[in-house]
Amino acid sequence: MKETILIIEDEEDILALLSGLLASENYRVITAGNGREGVEKFQEYTPDLIITDVRMPIMDGIEVLREVKTKESDTEVIILTGHSDEATAIDCLRLGAYDYFRKPLEDIDVLLTAVERVLEKRSLELKNRSLVKQLKELSIKDSLTGLYNYRYLQSCLDEEIDRSRRYGHNFFILMIDADHFKDINDTYGHLFGDHVLKKLGELLTTQLRSTDRLFRYGGEEFLVIMNELDKSEVVMIVDRLMESIRDHKFRYEGQEAKITVSMGGAFFPDGACNKLELIKMADQALYKAKQGGRNRFECCFDEAIDVATPGSEPLQSAGMQKDTKQDLPN
Ligand SMILES: [Mg+2]
Repeated sequence: MKETILIIEDEEDILALLSGLLASENYRVITAGNGREGVEKFQEYTPDLIITDVRMPIMDGIEVLREVKTKESDTEVIILTGHSDEATAIDCLRLGAYDYFRKPLEDIDVLLTAVERVLEKRSLELKNRSLVKQLKELSIKDSLTGLYNYRYLQSCLDEEIDRSRRYGHNFFILMIDADHFKDINDTYGHLFGDHVLKKLGELLTTQLRSTDRLFRYGGEEFLVIMNELDKSEVVMIVDRLMESIRDHKFRYEGQEAKITVSMGGAFFPDGACNKLELIKMADQALYKAKQGGRNRFECCFDEAIDVATPGSEPLQSAGMQKDTKQDLPN
C-alpha cells in the first residue's frame, strides 16, 4: 500500500470516481462528504495528501485548507474547483495548496501525475528534514560517548549565563576527571580506555537528574550543567556519582578495572562574572581535588569535602603518583 490520500467531496459521483481511481493505483484512500468530516478524518488519519472540493456544505475547502496548514502538518493539499472559481483557486495556492484542478475533471491522468509529483516532493522534503536533524544531532554530540560535545557546551553555557543574568537564578557546573586515566590506557590498552569513557558517561547519566546536562569536556574529562539546586544538593549528587563510579567494575574483553574520579565545581554567578571565570573556578577546584589526593570533590563554595565511602580508605596522595602502576585501582 502506498501513501494515504483523503478525498473530501460532496458530489458523490466525483468522490466515487476519484477514490476508485486512486485505490486502483494502490493508494490508501479515505473519503469524507464535507469539510467538517474531512477535518476530523485528517486528524484521525494524518494523510499524506488531501484532495478537497472548495464548495461544500457545513465547511468549505478553504476552511479545510486553513485548518490543515495551521496545524503545521506535512499534509499536502490539492484543490478541486468549479469553472467560476478561478480567484478562489489562486487564493488557495497562496494559502499553501500544491495545485488546483477544475471540474469536470476532463483529463484524469493530469491529476494522477500531480498526485505522484506532490507525494514525491513531500517524501524528499521529509527525508531532507530528517537528514538535517541527524546532522544537527551529530554536530552537537561526541562520537565516542554519545554525550554532548565541547562545542555545544560553549553555547549552552552562554545561554545559561544569559538566563541567569536575566532572571537572577544560580546554576552549577561540575567538572569530572577520571583519575590516572593514562595508566588505564597504558595498562589495559586504548580500547579498554574507550570503553571506560563510554561506560563512565552512562554511569553519570543514570545518576544525574533528567534536567542535568552532561558533556564530554575533553579526553577523560566531563562537565555537568545543573540548575535549581543548592549546596547541600550538590554534595548529595556528587556523593552519589562518586559512589557509583567507585563501586563499578569496568569490564571489557576479559579485562577488569575499577577507577575513581576527581571533581571540581563552581556556582554562577558566585565569584565568576563570565564564562571563562566560571570554567576557571571549576578547573581550579578540580586541580585542588587532584592535589588533595584524588577521588574527591572540591568546590569554590567550601573547604574540601571528602566523599569517600565509609570503610574505604581515602586515597593518599603519596600513594597516587602518576607513574606508579601498582597504585592503579583495579
Ligand atoms: Mg462541491
